[in-house]
Amino acid sequence: MSESWLPVPIESDFPIENLPFGVFSVERALRRIGVAIGEKILDCRAVADAGWFDDCCERELLEAPELNPFLAAGQTVWRAVRGRLSELLRAGGDPRLRDAGPEHFLIDRVRATMHVPMEIGDYVDFYSSIEHATNLGRLFRPNAEALLPNWRWLPVGYHGRSSTIVIDGTPVRRPCGQRKPPNAAVPEFGPSRRLDIELEMGFVTGPGNALGTPIAADDAREHIFGLLLVNDWSARDIQAWEYQPLGPFLGKSFATTISPWIVTLDALEPFCVEGPPQEPAPLDYLRAGGPWAYDVQLSVELQTARMREHGDAPQQISRTNARDLYWNVAQQLAHATANGAVARPGDLFASGTISGSEPGTQGSLIELTWNGERAIEMSDGEKRTFLEDGDEVTLRGWCEKPGARRIGFGAARGLIVSS
Ligand code: CA
Repeated sequence: MSESWLPVPIESDFPIENLPFGVFSVERALRRIGVAIGEKILDCRAVADAGWFDDCCERELLEAPELNPFLAAGQTVWRAVRGRLSELLRAGGDPRLRDAGPEHFLIDRVRATMHVPMEIGDYVDFYSSIEHATNLGRLFRPNAEALLPNWRWLPVGYHGRSSTIVIDGTPVRRPCGQRKPPNAAVPEFGPSRRLDIELEMGFVTGPGNALGTPIAADDAREHIFGLLLVNDWSARDIQAWEYQPLGPFLGKSFATTISPWIVTLDALEPFCVEGPPQEPAPLDYLRAGGPWAYDVQLSVELQTARMREHGDAPQQISRTNARDLYWNVAQQLAHATANGAVARPGDLFASGTISGSEPGTQGSLIELTWNGERAIEMSDGEKRTFLEDGDEVTLRGWCEKPGARRIGFGAARGLIVSS
């Protein structure tokens, strides 16, 4: 383990081993690329302007107001830049940053406004947790086989709406839509009454592929920059009425919240583990030399308006791990491009809701409350099945194991506001 000359609290998500990338601004200044370190952000534009990346990266890639040009540059450049940042921040490393006056390069994270870090051309959402797919199958199609016949053969997914992806902390307006209660003769239009979350992780792509040329599963590492947290907010009543036969639409597209920092695959390497066994064996194009699962601990916290007023801390309502996802990121990317479709730098591919098999490990309220039948008891006596106005949901993710420094993803928060 190396140490930074900058003080980093032991419980921080952002030690020198992490160095995740994001885009920030301070007051009215322009957006800049930055890297989180402890309680600070290292301003990559300022480092580029100082010329300290000149031997490893073209300046303009890190002077851009979004990550897309840097993402397009590929793994060799990513590694060289991250290596340089690590040297500049490491105790006993490259002295230039320290000697030049760190105050010119470092910003307090609490002062910064974070932004969606890249222009997201396309957004795909998978359905890769077998526990989640089984639970939703039981709830949505109670009289049929829970898992549809294709599920174990391919990573099921759909194209989502990239323009409504929002950054941590953006309020989420309760969507209106068509809903039809099971016993009603006709649908009605109005605010969703079954507003839910989906705890997911997503990966961000680097260099893309040419139209008509799939990305091989074994090449996925060169095309995936890193991971972040995703809350795929879902209006279950709108979804249940609209989803057949073409899949999710307005019940999903009103908002998707992401965490601000992209944690690189290199930083996650110590936490890379074998995924669950796959049976039947995947077809050849879905075979990726592993390991490809990530041991990321995940939690969901809920704080109601009343809890906030009374100063009550958010309550953890779910705790799970991403390592048991059935389909991994290499398989997802290979499948998404298997027909020759294009992935571009900055595209987002989300995992699908991450649920475990034990009680309290599910990544959505519809599962945690079993379709609203078992309310969650809050610390102040309130009950929740689906989200009410004023509720705030926070997703968190982190990695820890003996012998390695803990790294984390920060948070993806969203407060529900009325329609
Ligand atoms: Ca989803």
